[in-house]
Amino acid sequence: MLYVQVVLPLAQPMYSFSVDEELGVMVGDAVVVQFGPSRYYTGIVWSITSERPDFPRIKPILKRLYSTPLLTPEAQRLWEWMAEYYMCTLGEVMRQALPSMAKPSAQSLGELDERSIEAPTETFIALTAELRSEEALAAYTERHSRRAPRRTATMDHIAALAIERGSSDGFVPRRLIDATSEQLADLRKRGLILSEPRPTERSHSTTDFLLPTLSAPQQHALHAIREAHTNNKVALLHGVTGSGKTEIYIHLIADTLAAGNDVLMLVPEIVITSQLIERLERIFEGRTTTYHSHLTALRRGQTFLRLSLSGGGELIVGVRSSLFLPLHPGALVIVDEEHDPSYKQSDMQPRYNARDVAVMMGKTHAAHVVLGSATPALESYTNALSGKYVYIELNERWGDGVLPEVIVSDTIRAVKRGERKTHFNFDLLNHLRRSLEAGEQAILFQNRRGYAPYLQCRTCGYSPRCPHCNVTLTEHRTTRRMECHYCGYNIERPTMCPNCETQDIATMGFGTEKVEEEISRLFPDARVDRLDGDTSTSERAFKQIVQRFESGQTDILVGTQIVTKGFDFGGVTTVGILNADNLLSTPDFRASERAFQLMMQVAGRAGRRNDRGRVVVQTSQPKHPIIQYVASGDYRAMAHSELTEREAFGYPPYSHLIRILLRHEEYELLRYASHALAEAMRRKFGARVMGPVSAAREMLRGEHRSEIILKIESGASMTRARKLLREAIATVSNDQRYKSIKINIDVDAT
Ligand code: ADP
Ligand code: ZN
Repeated sequence: MLYVQVVLPLAQPMYSFSVDEELGVMVGDAVVVQFGPSRYYTGIVWSITSERPDFPRIKPILKRLYSTPLLTPEAQRLWEWMAEYYMCTLGEVMRQALPSMAKPSAQSLGELDERSIEAPTETFIALTAELRSEEALAAYTERHSRRAPRRTATMDHIAALAIERGSSDGFVPRRLIDATSEQLADLRKRGLILSEPRPTERSHSTTDFLLPTLSAPQQHALHAIREAHTNNKVALLHGVTGSGKTEIYIHLIADTLAAGNDVLMLVPEIVITSQLIERLERIFEGRTTTYHSHLTALRRGQTFLRLSLSGGGELIVGVRSSLFLPLHPGALVIVDEEHDPSYKQSDMQPRYNARDVAVMMGKTHAAHVVLGSATPALESYTNALSGKYVYIELNERWGDGVLPEVIVSDTIRAVKRGERKTHFNFDLLNHLRRSLEAGEQAILFQNRRGYAPYLQCRTCGYSPRCPHCNVTLTEHRTTRRMECHYCGYNIERPTMCPNCETQDIATMGFGTEKVEEEISRLFPDARVDRLDGDTSTSERAFKQIVQRFESGQTDILVGTQIVTKGFDFGGVTTVGILNADNLLSTPDFRASERAFQLMMQVAGRAGRRNDRGRVVVQTSQPKHPIIQYVASGDYRAMAHSELTEREAFGYPPYSHLIRILLRHEEYELLRYASHALAEAMRRKFGARVMGPVSAAREMLRGEHRSEIILKIESGASMTRARKLLREAIATVSNDQRYKSIKINIDVDAT
């Protein structure tokens, strides 16, 4: 009899089970165990021993789910690191890491059986049988080459590829054919070619991919990244918007796939990445897989299982959770837009930052890591300065592209001079008009946070709020309802103040919806569209808006943060940042850095082809240093001035911030517990403890929330800090009075 330690998807430590030697259980196996009277869980075997643990009753393992281990030794090391660093249990990591299909649980054992797994396919194309002989093709070309030279050239190209590759039936992979989808669709319609899905070819040469030709600076950057990887270092690629970072990634990806290794490309959000994914799928057809939360549970489960059986050489493009997909050692891991806040999981344990986990995969998976951004996070930049990462700069746009001109427009002055209409300074309106008259496009960016339209009574000051979340409700014109942005609670828009009963209740603040409405009034002939969380409720709705803008059916696109991210729209010449003030005034130590990043990113959407773009920044603080850095596009100056402030106040990267979040329905009990924990922490950490304070969201889903912040200076032992913090928390959570308080830890909180 053997004994195994099993991790279950619960916030508990490991459990011991017994297992017959004949079952052949291995470390990393997914196994089914019974837990509770009628509950069956999938667990992961963490270790095996022949020594009987000291428990009176040890239950047996009931079965193995898959014929090979589900978890690789590399993933095991990564999970262990995450549990330690982010102060959670392995079970909590497991809950996040494995898709539900890979870790089924059920009420009866029979429901848990091995599942089938699909092999990946790619499109293959051949000339129709009649044209496959040299003579037939020559005769066809003879007849048509005058009127349709393009068509016959493509057909020749397909025939040549088939010969070159020694294809016995004339079929060649679509990805190798240098033709657009439209050209191929046309050939298919005319009955000249056939296409069919076939199992993905495992090619082993970079010439099996059609790669873009790199410019000299891009070549140089590519070379520097390869060299960093040879020395097992993380590469930080700092390339201005439009410098062609993607093209460099494509070359790295081709290298890696050709060597039979895996590639993981992390992107902040999947829906905004459709342009990129289409491109990668064209080049790397049949080996590109996307992974994100819009996929069905079945698709995600199949992807996970397929990859765990695959021999390597696959490209995965996905959001932060794709870190957990089974990757082979020696993979390439790219973190695009590495500064993006959505890499941090902030609402669930483990509260990890995908960028930092990716860097750790350099160790656990012997992975080659590239972080890329036009505006690197200050943490990454500091690591580059200290030599921990290799810093690679690309400071010009590809081709003839130039960075846009930034125009700072003073809103207070504009009001004084009568040069402002509703929310737009004349500066911005004039540039918009110029773009529209020239048949060009514009993007207007309005930060949503805190500036959603809310109702306020001008007599008594009352604003309708959410009774569950203690935030103001947001007005939605289309539905004429007021809605809570956290929990969705909503009421009909009142016409009279519920508090003082006057009719003086009016809309305050402004969101993208308001901007869209006003701009349509100011430019009645312009076609205006809006891209934000309300209009892009589904991936399809989102794609349609993007598609309309891309194809020039829309002139002005109004949007939130979403529009700042990696889009490559050719026709945009004017970008308006409507209110830079609220970006600068969010209550967060990263406010300045984030404001700079957001403004630079949205500015980067302007003038990506041909004409030089213009960016109009509306602000009441034109002299603010951050506004000045945006105007001069000076990342380095921004970074150094910010870092000086961070150091003076002991903020990251000069410290680690750990946030302890406490939650309970009873306010008084929460208050006592929070003070008790803060006291216990102060006895160990002294002045490094801040709080307790009410959380930014004081109340959420019926629970009161408070938080304590712990600041540990860089260089101090985090291992020791975590141990002391665990002890402090234990003194409170072991106290009978506070048993029901929920406590979460957020390491490297933002
Ligand atoms: P970034 O991601 O750095 O903002 P992109 O990769 O989106 O930049 O490149 C900007 C534009 O320039 C894109 O339209 C891209 O296709 C084009 N481009 C960049 N490098 C090349 C290249 N080597 N060959 C062809 N086009 C390029
Ligand atoms: Zn609410």
